[in-house]
Parts: sequence; structure tokens; C-alpha cells
Amino acid sequence: MANLYDILAEGFPADRTKPAFILSDGTQVSYAELEAGAAQIAGHLVASGVAPGDRVGLQTEKSVEAVMIYLGVLKAGAVFLPLNSAYTKAEVDYFIHDAAPRVFVTDAQAFRDEANDADPLTEAVARKETDLASLIYTSGTTGRSKGAMLSHGNLAENARALHRAWGFTPDDVLLHALPIFHVHGLFVAMHCAFLSGAPMVWLPKFDDAQVLAGLAKSTVMMGVPTFYTRLLANPQFTRRAAAHMRLFICGSAPLLESTFAEFEDRTGMRILERYGMSEAVIITSNPLHGDRIPGSVGYPLPGVDLRIGGGQETGVIEIRGPSVFSGYWEMPEKTAEEFTADGYFKTGDVGRQDPDGRVWISGRAKDLIISGGYNVYPKEIELILDELPGVTESAVVGVPHPDFGEGVVAVVIGVGDEAAMIATCRAQLAPYKTPKRVVFVDELPRNTMGKVQKNLLRDRYSNLFST
Ligand code: AMP
Repeated sequence: MANLYDILAEGFPADRTKPAFILSDGTQVSYAELEAGAAQIAGHLVASGVAPGDRVGLQTEKSVEAVMIYLGVLKAGAVFLPLNSAYTKAEVDYFIHDAAPRVFVTDAQAFRDEANDADPLTEAVARKETDLASLIYTSGTTGRSKGAMLSHGNLAENARALHRAWGFTPDDVLLHALPIFHVHGLFVAMHCAFLSGAPMVWLPKFDDAQVLAGLAKSTVMMGVPTFYTRLLANPQFTRRAAAHMRLFICGSAPLLESTFAEFEDRTGMRILERYGMSEAVIITSNPLHGDRIPGSVGYPLPGVDLRIGGGQETGVIEIRGPSVFSGYWEMPEKTAEEFTADGYFKTGDVGRQDPDGRVWISGRAKDLIISGGYNVYPKEIELILDELPGVTESAVVGVPHPDFGEGVVAVVIGVGDEAAMIATCRAQLAPYKTPKRVVFVDELPRNTMGKVQKNLLRDRYSNLFST
């Protein structure tokens, strides 16, 4: 049995009348309804000529029907291609041209209704572990977006590992406020719920009032760092509001140590940070039992071989393991470039590893600044700035500089005195690492997963040092 659908469905509760989704208006959708919907959609796809391996695209708002389509696509042996609902027509045209989906769904409800007339597919189409289950276009900020090919085996292995690592049981209730066009909400969160036969408190998006109400009914929440900063900004988020929860998990972007500390102060609970990417789903996690250390992304999951490339203490993280994708869709050369000769994937994230295996990430390799020929890791400077009074968060980038090639610029949310901040940094850092300018802003540009878009900052300040 290798079709991911079957593996997930094995976790569904024996009593299928139990809820799979609890909606904000109180309505529940049972596992029986989810299963029936997926079977009808699978039947409809097969009847429409969708063959194993064909891509089925979906670009819609988050909904229960969208999940039925995801599971139906898996069951039919086709390849699920989710697209960010915010993509413009021109962006979507690129993905359609690249992935050539057989079917492209833009209205999940209408598609679900259409499938009502189809004969449900009772047995999932047989798939091998190496067969493609999903094509995930990376949110890459430069160059062409690449489709990461994830197999049934990749996704099943990661789902099982997370389900175990985070101690999921049928008694859990998962608060789901993430988008489902990205691996975090689509695979990481939903698969943990399905493997446990647990319900999800299903929110269309993050809204603090709805999340606060949902926390009272849930036991686990998965979120991006901005979920946590927004919750903390709400005075109604108290120890009491979090009392029903056993676990808060965070990832997709670095969690600030200050957020971790404030969260612990407020709730008495330590956020569990983990690290992942579209190409390998989850790679490392802080422990469920044991020390969750702020600033560290924890240990490689069982089965993941992780090493630091380049022979230095800090370098590009390389990984090998059951969840690592097989390559980029129709880009054999790009794929070959991103793997080492001995089969490790070069993640593009720079980090280091303690002797006991614990991993620390210092940023993306492409965000490395080279100033006067020296390497500058932005994280080192950001950590100093973030400690300063008046600073909420900082992002350090390199922009063209006539003397140094690149000059270090600190973009800071907060208030302060530029010269004083530079002097404070200089007291702790070599001159080439010290920001040459500090710019104050109200907010940093972020993508939907809460990642700071440093490429936009580099563009914005590209003329700061031009003469
Ligand atoms: P995506 O493919 O969109 O999921 O983006 C993956 C990237 O997000 C990784 O390569 C990391 O750069 C970043 N990322 C994910 N989780 C973390 C984390 N806990 N800390 C720092 N960066 C992270």
C-alpha cells in the first residue's frame, strides 16, 4: 500500500461520524463526508480521463471542498498542484504552461457539486512510493519558480515522522488557520490531523478573535511567526486563553527569540520551533519532551542525514532522507546543481550544528552579504539590533556600495538614533559587519508565510550608497 491517500485514511477514526472539520459557525464536517467527497471527486477525475501521473491544479480560497479535491486527486493517482490564491493571471499562466495540468480547478465548491453525479472511486489507484503525489512551486524570490516533485513516499514518511515526534493522538484537536496552498498548512498540519483521526478547528485565515475562540476548543496549533506576534499583540491572549492547549508549533520563517520569551512569559508554554521547506517538508524539530531552545530549530527528524557543507563550522545545510524530493519538475540541470555527488540536497540555508546534533540557522545563503571581500551573516547583526531598546525587529541586507562591493544596511522596525545604534553595533562587531546605515520603518515586507522579503529591501535601498 503506497498511495498516500490510503496511508492517511488508515488514520481516520473507526467511527467516521466524528468531525474532521469544525467550522467557525459551529458546523461540523465528518470524516465520513470527507471520505465520500474525496471518493466522488476521484471518480469524477477518472471519468474525465485523468490518468495516473496527470497533474490537477487548484487555485481557490481555503475550504473543506478544496481538501476533498486534494484527497480525491491523490486517490485518483494524479498529482496535486496547489497554487497560491493570490497569484495573478500572468503568474498562473506560467504554472499552467510549466506543469501542463490536465484539469485546473478555480471553484472548489462548483467542482465538488459537479462530482456529485460521478460514481465514487472505492479503491485508491495503486501508486509506488516513488510516484509523484504533488508538485509544489517554491516561493522562490529570484529566477523562475521551480516545481518541487514530492512523491507518495516522501509525504507519507514525513507525515508519520511528525505524527510520532509531536505526540499526536485521536484526542487532539488541531487549530488550522494556515493557507493550504503551501506545504505547512497542506501537508504538515493536515497530515498530522488525518493520521490521528483528529478534528481540525478550521479557520479560513488567521484572525485573532477567531483564533482566540478556537484555542478554547483545540490542543495543538501550528503557525508562522506572525501568528504568534499577532496573538501576543492581543491583550485577551492570556495564560487562561491558552490553558486548553498542549502544544504550539512554529515554522516557515525564523521565530524571534523575543517572541519565544514573551510567549513563555504570557502563557507559561514554550513554542516548539521546527524547520522545513517545500523540497523536504519538515527537516528538523525541537523536541516534544526536552529542551526547546529559542533560536534553534532543534534536531534532524529520525531518518534525516544532515550535514554542513563547505568544511567550515557554519555553511550551507545539506540533507538526505526519506522526505527529500526527487528534483525540480522538468529542470534536470537545476536539479543536478542542487544535489551533491553523494546525493545530499543543498538547502540554501546557512547554519551550524552542535556536536549533539542540534541545528541553528543563520539565514539564506543568497542573503549573505559580501562587504569588502568579507562574508557577513545578517543574522549576527540582527540578533544584536533586536536586543536594543525601541527595536521590535530588524532585517539586515547588503546593497551596492562603491568601495566595498556591498554595504551593510539595517532596516529596523522601531525607533532610535541611527548614530547611536551604529556605535552600539561597532562595539560588538568588526567594522566590516557594522551597519553603515540604519533605516527605520513601520513594517517589513513579508510574503504570505510571514517570511521577510529581503530581495524587496535590497531593491528599495539599492541606491543608498550610490554617489
Ligand atoms: P518554503 O519552501 O516556502 O517552505 O520555504 C522554506 C524556507 O523557509 C527554508 O529554506 C528556510 O529558509 C525558511 N524556514 C522555514 N522554517 C524556518 C525556521 N524555523 N527558521 C528559519 N527559517 C525557516
